[in-house]
Amino acid sequence: MVDCIIIGSGVAGISAALTLKANGKSFLLFGVKELSQKIVRAEKIRNYPGFLGENGEAFASMLQDQLKKEEIEIVCERVSGVYALKEKFAVSTNEGGMYESKTVILASGVEQGKQIDGEKEFLGKGVSYCATCDGFLYKNKKIAVVCLSKTFEHEVEYLSSIADKTYLFPIYKNVEVTGERIEKIVKMPTKIVGEKRVTGLIYPEKGEERRLDVDGVFVLKESLPVDALVSGLETENGHVKINRQCETNLAGLYATGDITGRPYQYAKAVGEGNVAAHSVTEYLQKLKTE
Ligand SMILES: Cc1cc2nc3c(=O)[nH]c(=O)nc-3n(C[C@H](O)[C@H](O)[C@H](O)COP(=O)(O)OP(=O)(O)OC[C@H]3O[C@@H](n4cnc5c(N)ncnc54)[C@H](O)[C@@H]3O)c2cc1C
Repeated sequence: MVDCIIIGSGVAGISAALTLKANGKSFLLFGVKELSQKIVRAEKIRNYPGFLGENGEAFASMLQDQLKKEEIEIVCERVSGVYALKEKFAVSTNEGGMYESKTVILASGVEQGKQIDGEKEFLGKGVSYCATCDGFLYKNKKIAVVCLSKTFEHEVEYLSSIADKTYLFPIYKNVEVTGERIEKIVKMPTKIVGEKRVTGLIYPEKGEERRLDVDGVFVLKESLPVDALVSGLETENGHVKINRQCETNLAGLYATGDITGRPYQYAKAVGEGNVAAHSVTEYLQKLKTE
C-alpha cells in the first residue's frame, strides 16, 4: 500500500507529487500522458512567477522534464471511484485496476462542460461514466454515448462491441471512430429522461426536440463530478470544500487546484498541491504515532 494516491496530472497534482517525493513518501500519480489540456492549450502564460509569456506547450515540456528527472511516472488510468475504508482508501480505475493508499489527494480539475439535464438524477440508474465498469450491462441493448474527448474513442469502440446499437454524440472535432453498429449524431443532447431508470435521450434537430429510446447513457469526459467520484464528500457550489490545510471532511482525503474553487489559475493550484502534500506528510506521521 502506498502512502498517497494523487488523482490528476495537472499542475496541482504535479506540485503535490514533487513535494511528496521531496518528503520521502511513496505515491501513485494518476492522470494522462500529456499532463492536462489546461496546460497544453494555454496560449501565453504571463501571471506565473518566472514565466515571460511562454506558451502552454513549453510549460508542459518543462514539467515533463522535471517529472523525468525526479523519476515520477504517471499511471495513465482514469480513476472511477474512491472508497474511504478504515484508515485507508481503495481506488478503482476504468481500466479495471484497484489500488490502496493511506491517503488521497484529489487534483482532478473542474468538470468539463455543463451536466446534461437528468445526468445527476439517473447516475447509477442508466447513466454511467465508466465504459469498462458498466458496459457489460448493455449486451444487446441500445445505448447513447456522449463523448467529450477524442481520447475516449477506444471506450466508444468497446461499448459498441457489446451493445446492439450505439448512438454516438461526439462533442469534439475530427471524429475517427466508426462501426456498423454506431450511428453518429453531431448534436449536444439536452435531456436524459426515464422513470425508475433511463428510457431515452432528447436532442435538438431543426428547431425541434427529438427523442431516442435508449437503455443507457454513457457520458465520457475528462473530469467527473466530484460526488460521482467520492461519496460523502462535502461540496460547496460544485467545488470540494477544504480548509487552509486542504483537508476535506473525510480524514486522509485532501483536495487541491481548480476542484476546490476559483480562481482557476496555475499559481493557486501549485500552492494548494504543495500544502496538501505537507498535510499528507503530517497525517502519515500522526497515523504512525497513534
Ligand atoms: C486555454 C486555457 C488557458 C489558461 N491560461 C492560464 C494562464 O495563463 N494562467 C493561469 O494562471 N491559468 C490559466 N488557465 C487555468 C489553469 O489552466 C488551471 O487553473 C490549472 O490548470 C488547474 O490545474 P489543476 O491541476 O487543478 O487541474 P487540471 O489542469 O484541469 O488537471 C486535472 C487533471 O486531472 C486529470 N483527471 C481528471 N479526472 C481524472 C480521473 N478520474 N482519473 C485520473 N485523472 C483524472 C485530468 O486528465 C487532468 O490531467 C488556463 C486554462 C485554460 C483552459
